[in-house]
Amino acid sequence: MTNCIFCRIVSGQIPSKRVHEDAEVVAFEDANPAAPTHILVVPRRHLATLDDSSDADAGLLGRLVVVARQIAAKRDLAGGYRLVMNVHAGAGQSVFHVHLHVLGGRTFGWPPG
Ligand code: AMP
Repeated sequence: MTNCIFCRIVSGQIPSKRVHEDAEVVAFEDANPAAPTHILVVPRRHLATLDDSSDADAGLLGRLVVVARQIAAKRDLAGGYRLVMNVHAGAGQSVFHVHLHVLGGRTFGWPPG
């Protein structure tokens, strides 16, 4: 999708601070961090929202979480970190390409805002 900002980041058309990439997944620093560590883990394949995935995407969606765990380990976030996926605008999704936020380095409240 040429008009999708995360597709353009995945393809390298838009620069990002990458922290991970493999055949299925790319991870990069959030441009507007909400915590000392704030990384976005995205599938290379365009999926607008989680609701555009299917049961056949279980492996891909699992990869997002596995990569998030690896990033948390590298960033020494064992004291606590948060994974967030906003699904649809009503939940705060602003970029319509599935992504998992990895947030850490501060304390978090519950329930989330
Ligand atoms: P969400 O609101 O859940 O869709 O999250 C989208 C995230 O993408 C926000 O935290 C933004 O700060 C981040 N973001 C938007 N554009 C860029 C970009 N060009 N590079 C890195 N992060 C971005």
